[in-house]
Amino acid sequence: HPPFDVYTVRKDFPILREQVNGHPLVWFDNAATTQKPRSVIERIAHFYEHENSNIHRAAHELAARSTDAYEQARAIVARFIGASSTEEIIFVRGATEGINLIAQTWGRKNIHAGDEIIISHLEHHANIVPWQLLAAETGAQLKVIPVDDTGELMLGEYTRLLSDRTKLVSVAHVSNALGTITPVREIVAEAQRAGAVTIVDGAQSVPHTSIDVRSIGADFFVFSGHKLFGPTGIGVVYGKSEILQDVPPWQGGGNMISDVTLERSLFQPPPGRFEAGTGNIADAVGLGTAIEYVERIGMDAIARYEHELLEYATPRVAAVRGVRLVGTAADKASVLSFVMAGCEPIDIGKALNEKGIAVRAGHHCAQPILRRLGLEATVRPSFAFYNTFDEIDRMVAILEQIAVRSPR
Ligand code: PMP
Repeated sequence: HPPFDVYTVRKDFPILREQVNGHPLVWFDNAATTQKPRSVIERIAHFYEHENSNIHRAAHELAARSTDAYEQARAIVARFIGASSTEEIIFVRGATEGINLIAQTWGRKNIHAGDEIIISHLEHHANIVPWQLLAAETGAQLKVIPVDDTGELMLGEYTRLLSDRTKLVSVAHVSNALGTITPVREIVAEAQRAGAVTIVDGAQSVPHTSIDVRSIGADFFVFSGHKLFGPTGIGVVYGKSEILQDVPPWQGGGNMISDVTLERSLFQPPPGRFEAGTGNIADAVGLGTAIEYVERIGMDAIARYEHELLEYATPRVAAVRGVRLVGTAADKASVLSFVMAGCEPIDIGKALNEKGIAVRAGHHCAQPILRRLGLEATVRPSFAFYNTFDEIDRMVAILEQIAVRSPR
């Protein structure tokens, strides 16, 4: 790989030249969604200008082009996360739809009254609510791995929760609210010893570190394209082919069948069985291009640089008067969460926005973990490989001004 040069990389992202309130945009809301390189934007335009068709190998040329582009994107995803084959890659709208798909197909078939589903206290609502719905429907019970005051999972407690009633363990790889990286390999291995199926929510890990689903070992792995510099409305469910073979369909309709009579339907093998109707073809293709883009930079180079940003920002933000960092796990992705005495998170967000700096201020769709730490909201700058040390300095300078102005 060529050496990593942030100022060259930034030229690939047209939106980073935007002005906001008379200041250059500083995009520190990467955990919510990431910006798109020109290659992705152009790939989507190219699809609509030269390839657009529904995907069926019909008689005509454009159907062949769009089918090829869509299936090539699936192959890129499979290679990127280390899947054994493209049959293990299902395109969905995003991580949320992916988890709901698993709950409503594998879950409805395999979870029964008295069974237990384990999640953690760190989860995004997308990995909580689908399991609450399934538990209410089936009479299963939800168990929660507790989290300590630094935002790390309490693994001893996890071991105690596992039993022969545990049918499923579903955990985030990286917490979107705190940045904690969880030890998914160990969590998966322990679950498997207890005979449970495992899901890893990779929405926040895929953009920051190279992923090898076979070494993680989970049965399912989900993520969203838009957090990986790809388009919105496209995401991925990886499922081990052994498990997918026995998973019933979710939505019914076109594409997912192999034969339909008025009396019965026969279904496609995975992944087609789970892709009813016309999918988000153009954005799947765009996701493939986003993956090729980050692969060119190199996931290891990205992880290294983002870690430097985090190491630079953490002590500087912590040193601002009245600031308390929220989530101080030893192993973290480039997410900083904090509160400031005498100043509401939303007001800090607005003050930063006045100077062109975009951060998330709120509960981050993870209310249980914030409440566990005694909070309703935090300020959350989250960094990507196109951010700079200078941008962090600008944010810290504004935080210092806010701290001087705010009552104690
Ligand atoms: N899980 C985690 C850890 C997330 O951070 C997010 C997005 N904030 C999701 C799931 C849901 O992703 P999406 O909204 O793209 O479906």
